[in-house]
Amino acid sequence: MSQPERSAEIAALYQEMILDHYRRPRNKGTLESPDAEAQMRNPLCGDEIDLQVNFAGDTVGDLRFSGRGCSISQASASMMTQIVKGKSTAEVDAIRNRFRDLMLGDQSAATDSVLGSLRALSGVSRFPARVKCALLAWNALESALQGRRG
Ligand code: ZN
Repeated sequence: MSQPERSAEIAALYQEMILDHYRRPRNKGTLESPDAEAQMRNPLCGDEIDLQVNFAGDTVGDLRFSGRGCSISQASASMMTQIVKGKSTAEVDAIRNRFRDLMLGDQSAATDSVLGSLRALSGVSRFPARVKCALLAWNALESALQGRRG
């Protein structure tokens, strides 16, 4: 397969993954008694994310999000909840920083396995206006973790 064909195939696969998370969001809803929560808005696009987190020691035990907005914002939130569940707060910080690298167009991040399915969002880096959409859930998570740290 030629390079352009391969790139087109990956782009189509990534698009499919984004739409799948948008249509069937993982960990959507609310927690009964969250340890921390945060709300984030992206007025440029109309995206909203409300995030709730329960901790188990130093790890993210469980988390749920609710919200509305574009497919990028909601798919990113869904993917984020999947990848950070069960991770320590230090691991979450590392993944969040790497995801920011990806959104800033860092090519090495696009092949970094630590990002898992989040790599499906790599194409967003070419559209600066949409980077805010993709980072919204991560900003909510950072805010929730800071609240927890006091
Ligand atoms: Zn958006």
